[in-house]
Amino acid sequence: MEMIPSSETCSVKVALHIRPLIADERLQGCKDCVSVVPRLPQVQIGTHSFTFDHVYGNGGAESSAMFEQCVAPLVDGLFQGYNATVLAYGQTGSGKTYTMGTGFKDGCHTGLIPQVMGALFNKIETLKHQTEFQLHVSFIEILREEVRDLLDSASESKSVVANGHAGKVAVPGKSPIQIREASNGVITLAGSTEVAVSTLQEMAACLEQGSLCRATGSTNMNNQSSLMSCRSLLYVHKSRSHAIFTITLEQMRKLHSVSPVNDTPDEDMGEEYFCAKLHLVDLAGSERAKRTGTDGLRLKEGIHINKGLLALGNVISALGDEKKRKEGTHVPYRDSKLTRLLQDSLGGNSKTVMIACISPADINAEETLNTLKYANRAR
Ligand code: ADP
Ligand code: MG
Repeated sequence: MEMIPSSETCSVKVALHIRPLIADERLQGCKDCVSVVPRLPQVQIGTHSFTFDHVYGNGGAESSAMFEQCVAPLVDGLFQGYNATVLAYGQTGSGKTYTMGTGFKDGCHTGLIPQVMGALFNKIETLKHQTEFQLHVSFIEILREEVRDLLDSASESKSVVANGHAGKVAVPGKSPIQIREASNGVITLAGSTEVAVSTLQEMAACLEQGSLCRATGSTNMNNQSSLMSCRSLLYVHKSRSHAIFTITLEQMRKLHSVSPVNDTPDEDMGEEYFCAKLHLVDLAGSERAKRTGTDGLRLKEGIHINKGLLALGNVISALGDEKKRKEGTHVPYRDSKLTRLLQDSLGGNSKTVMIACISPADINAEETLNTLKYANRAR
């Protein structure tokens, strides 16, 4: 791949997405404890105030504004060969999956990923007379520092009974997936399914398949457990994994320009090749693992996920610190699978957007404050 010179400095944009109070919260009599300062990308909670690059409230038009302002430039960058990452951060229930569109419930038409797909194929349509495109998608999740393939049909979740506990586990694919770094710094996932897609429908099908396959994990439930508690366990499990939907765009552009050397129209100037990828990440819930009701396994998950989010926070704050970057301070990518995997798409010429998701409900005030602090540190 060619190195593309960049005049822009490395930037991490941070946006805040405040979802509306949901029915559950209203039933509990929750009050809205987050206020947006009019005409400013600023919020207040109690005596604290935080400023971000953008703040999106709960209006229906917000979703397309968020896409246009935060994500569309990354899609454009993809066509110029820049890698990019979009991260949804926040406690479980704060709206990460809704924001990304990684679930197949209600976020699926308005979420960012479906909008990325729409923009991508529109742009390809306008350029395809001069450029040949190839698209691949992969969809993996990181759970307990293990990478799982969500598009490998052999790894579909199956009902099992293990250690006397009934539950569902995702059966890992034949070979474990490994994160590799090529000598040119390009990160690849050896052993993961890369699906070649040529239409929006094919890409959407991958998103749907992977969303459905998202690991359900083993449980500490017994056979008598009700369907209801199975559902809530599945929810807990999902909340502990990072789901990463990656779109890789390859371009072969025929060069028609006149050669600057001999002024003749070139026929053999050949082609220009670009390859770039966009990671769309639905991060694990940022809440601290509760010790209550956890067995050894649960606890291990909690620790590992904290490790990924912790490493991500450290990487992003190292990247965002101009002074540190000039001094060539070590960026701790290797501290977790998550940051290792995103290494070539965070920092350098890559563009990164973090969308911090919060609930406005007073019962969530403590976690909301933690999210605001984490996101603030990323700026
Ligand atoms: P997370 O992935 O962070 O755990 P979800 O995306 O599953 O959170 O959202 C939790 C609940 O809140 C879901 O029922 C979802 O439909 C709802 N929700 C999230 N964001 C919004 C929003 N912007 N507008 C309306 N409902 C939302
Ligand atoms: Mg979710």
